[in-house]
Amino acid sequence: AEDGIRDRDVTVQTCALPISKLRRTHYIGTVGDILGWDEQVNLPPDSGDQRAAQHSVMAELHHAAVTDPAIGALLTTLEAGTLGADERTVVKEARRDYDRATRLPADFVKEKAEHGSRSYHAWADARAKDDFPAFAPFLEKHLVLAKREAAYLGHGATPYDYYIDQFDPGMTAERITALFSELKTGLVPLVRRIAASPVKARRDLLKGCPVAAQEVFLKEVTAKLGFDYRRGRIDVAVHPFCSGTGSDTRMTTRYDPDDPLKALLGAIHETGHGLYEQGLPREHAGTALAQNAGMGVHESQSRLWENQVGRGRPFWKFFEPRFRELFPTAMAKVSSEELYLAINAVRPTLIRVDADEVTYNLHIILRFELEQRLFRGDLAVAGLPAAWRESSRELLGLEPRNDKEGVLQDVHWSGGAFGYFPSYCLGNMLASQLWYHALGLLPGLEDDFARGDFARLLGWLRTEVHARGRRLGLLELTRAVTGEELTPKYLLRYLSERYAGLYGVA
Ligand code: ZN
Repeated sequence: AEDGIRDRDVTVQTCALPISKLRRTHYIGTVGDILGWDEQVNLPPDSGDQRAAQHSVMAELHHAAVTDPAIGALLTTLEAGTLGADERTVVKEARRDYDRATRLPADFVKEKAEHGSRSYHAWADARAKDDFPAFAPFLEKHLVLAKREAAYLGHGATPYDYYIDQFDPGMTAERITALFSELKTGLVPLVRRIAASPVKARRDLLKGCPVAAQEVFLKEVTAKLGFDYRRGRIDVAVHPFCSGTGSDTRMTTRYDPDDPLKALLGAIHETGHGLYEQGLPREHAGTALAQNAGMGVHESQSRLWENQVGRGRPFWKFFEPRFRELFPTAMAKVSSEELYLAINAVRPTLIRVDADEVTYNLHIILRFELEQRLFRGDLAVAGLPAAWRESSRELLGLEPRNDKEGVLQDVHWSGGAFGYFPSYCLGNMLASQLWYHALGLLPGLEDDFARGDFARLLGWLRTEVHARGRRLGLLELTRAVTGEELTPKYLLRYLSERYAGLYGVA
C-alpha cells in the first residue's frame, strides 16, 4: 500500500472514479447553463413553460449526480489515504459540494425552494407598491431558513460566515468588517469631495450612436483584450451576464443608442469574467483545479479589465480614434477630455446598479453592515427601512424618499441570497492590489495598452490567477500573488489617483 500511495500513477488511478463522476456532474451543470443562457437570449415569449419543465428535469438529474452515494464512499476512502497537494484540493472541494448537497433534508430543500418562489413574487409586488411591511414576513422566514441551513451544515453558531464562505471560501464577517471599516474611513470623505466639486461629468454626451456600430466596436475591443471568440460569444440580453465555462463562454450585453459607454464598459466587465473562465485549465474540467476561486476573485478579474484598464487614459489613447471613426456625428463636438470625464463619471446615487466605481463600494458596505446586524439579531426586519435610510445618509450623503429607492431595490434578499454582496467590494480591493503589483512587475505596461497590446497583462493574470483554479481562496491567493495580505489601501490609492485629479479635489 505504501508503494501504491507514493506511486503517482496509482494515486491518479485511485482518483479516477470520483473524477469521472465529478465530470459527469459538471457536464450536466453545463447543459443547465446553456438552457439558462438560451432562455435569456433566444427563447420565444410563450415557450417559458416547456423551459421551466426542462430546467426541473435537469435539476433532478444534477441533484442525483451530485448526491451519488458512490462519491461519498470514495471521498471517505481518499480522505483516509495520502494525497498530493492537487489531489487534496480536488477531494476537499468535492467534499464541500457533496456535504452541501447531501446534508440538507429533502423536505427542507423543498420548503426553501417554495418559499423562495413565493418570496420573489411578494418582493416584486411590495416594490411596485412601495410596501415593505408586506415583504417583511417573507424576509423574516428567509432568515430563519438560512440559520437552519447553516446548522444542518455544522455552522449553527456562525450562520452569516457560512453564507460568506459559500461565495468566498475562507472569508469571514470579522475579516470583512476590518477591511470595510478601513475602506469606509478613506472613501466617504473622497466621495463627499467629488460630489461637491464644480467639475460635473456628462453621461448624456453621446446621443444617437447606431447599435450596429456599437456592436462592431465592442467586438473589436473585447477581441483585442484577448477574449477567444472561437470558444465564446456575446449576445443581447436584458440583464448582462457571463455564463458557461472556458470551453464555451457566453456573455451578454444590452445596447442603448444614447449611451454607447454602457454596453461597452459592461461588455469589458463581462470579458474580464470570460477571460478568467477561458484561462482555467480545461484538462481538469469537473474538478476544483479547473474551477474559479470564488466570487470575489471572479469579480477582481472583471473589475480590473473594466476599471483599471477600460476606464484608463492609455486604453482610450489607443481606442478613441476608432471610436470617433465609428460615431462621427455623436462625437463631432465632444473633446477627448469630455469623453474621458464621461467614462469616469462619479455621482452618488441611491440605486446600487446605477452607481459608479467609486460610490459602488459604499452601497456594498451598507448592505453588509445591515445583513450582519440581521444575523446577529440586533436589528429586527421591521427596523430595516429606518436603518437603511440612516446608513444611506451616513455613507452616501443621500436619503431615499421611499423604500423602492431604499431597502426594496435589490432582488437578492427575496431569494434568501445572504453574504453575496461583500464579494463585489472584495473584488474591487483585489483588482487594485493586483493592478499595482502588475505595474511594478511589468514596466511600461500602460504603454502597451496605448499601442493596443494587452497580452502582457493577460499573460500575467493567466499564470498568477487563472491557472491556479481553486487551489487558493481569495485571502491565500492575494498573499501568494502580491506577497501581502488583502488590504483596501490599494483601492483607496487607485480611486484617489484617478478621481481626485479629474475632479480637482486632491
Ligand atoms: Zn461581475
